[in-house]
Amino acid sequence: MTLSRRGLIGSGVAAAAATKIAGAETRAGSAAGETLPLLFDRSDPNLKFDLLVTGGTVVDPSQKLHAHRDVAIKNGQIAAVAESIPAARAVQVFDAGGAIVTPGLIDLHCHYYHQVSGIGLPPDEMMGLTATTTGVDAGDAGYASFPGFRHHVIGQTRTRLFGFIHISAIGLAGNPIKVGEMMNIDYADVDACAKAVAENRDVCLGVKVRMSKNVVGSNGMEPLRRAIRAAQIAGPWARVMCHIGNAPVPLGEVLEALRPGDIVTHAYSNAGETNAIVAGGKVLPQAFEARRRGVLFDVGHGGGSFDFTVAAPALEQGFPPDTISSDVHSVSIQSPSKPLLPWVLSKFLSLGLPLEQVIAKATTEPARIIGRVPGLGSLQVGAPADVAVFKLVEGPVAFVDTNKHERRGNVYLDPIKTIRQGRPFGFPFPDPFTYT
Ligand SMILES: [Zn+2]
Repeated sequence: MTLSRRGLIGSGVAAAAATKIAGAETRAGSAAGETLPLLFDRSDPNLKFDLLVTGGTVVDPSQKLHAHRDVAIKNGQIAAVAESIPAARAVQVFDAGGAIVTPGLIDLHCHYYHQVSGIGLPPDEMMGLTATTTGVDAGDAGYASFPGFRHHVIGQTRTRLFGFIHISAIGLAGNPIKVGEMMNIDYADVDACAKAVAENRDVCLGVKVRMSKNVVGSNGMEPLRRAIRAAQIAGPWARVMCHIGNAPVPLGEVLEALRPGDIVTHAYSNAGETNAIVAGGKVLPQAFEARRRGVLFDVGHGGGSFDFTVAAPALEQGFPPDTISSDVHSVSIQSPSKPLLPWVLSKFLSLGLPLEQVIAKATTEPARIIGRVPGLGSLQVGAPADVAVFKLVEGPVAFVDTNKHERRGNVYLDPIKTIRQGRPFGFPFPDPFTYT
């Protein structure tokens, strides 16, 4: 995107804020309360918006906003949010009457290295089902293959992408097969992984490791130890995303090893009584202790990692997720549990989490974790114009978890339109017809 000199000078805060973007590499970065640089001339009385999303109910947790609002977009940014904006002020209009309008969803756990990872899917092709404008790849690429992911996927995709680099050189290139990527510990070269993470810190959030018996074999805690070490070397901003499942050691030991800012994914998986964060009906003390320390808990639904009989008691006992992610991949997407992010969010509505919180856990909260894009996960003026529009469909609905438990709900989110940096996916096609 070209910045016009006039646009920068036109806003007194623009120069300072532009400097802030260039240096935004810390873990902070939530949208709330930030003053964002405007890339258009707001004072122009004849300003024509590129696109107007009209008639919807905006649910934007970053502004504590849940009200009828029109949303105007200009030059890839949210330009205005107001009770009524005349259609004549926009080149194109999308009628969101009766629908809800949220920041574009942010999915913290996905698999996107299609045709290289055994389970990767192309994010843009899924847009109509996922409403996900920002996605985080959870270790499809190892440190040996991340340059390819960066070039061939991040560089060729409209969806805004980030990734965790796998502590195993081969990442998930061979998954699903019988030989887990951490059966051979020599694939976990700490310095090589740290180098890849550090070199790609604009798009890499840290190190991925899968702590399941069928992945690590007899290597026990060593893959996690090496993942943490690689992240430490790369810098204090680098996180570890740790998959939990049928743990090679008692689950509590894994939780105790994690650092503030690290992420447990598959938080409500149930691989047996000693392998879930709920044991004997109670949330593990080590899980509460990890959360007190600042460890984050992510859903990562997937094809085998979300169980209502773990999630329901956890939520009742005050242990909701920090972030709700899908773990959508080529196997899970075909399972009856349908781990598409809007559907996973709807499952949490059925568990009693209010709509605003559910949306926050797939917008504001993962945006804070990504911490690299000012305004991400928000519809405040100046934020990137990433927008999702949903029908909130009322009526009885049945959900299934990955262990075939059923749960009834009253409502679900049905995605009907997704916009990335001002450009809609599908109709109305951008005018002029160019892609970002
Ligand atoms: Zn996954």
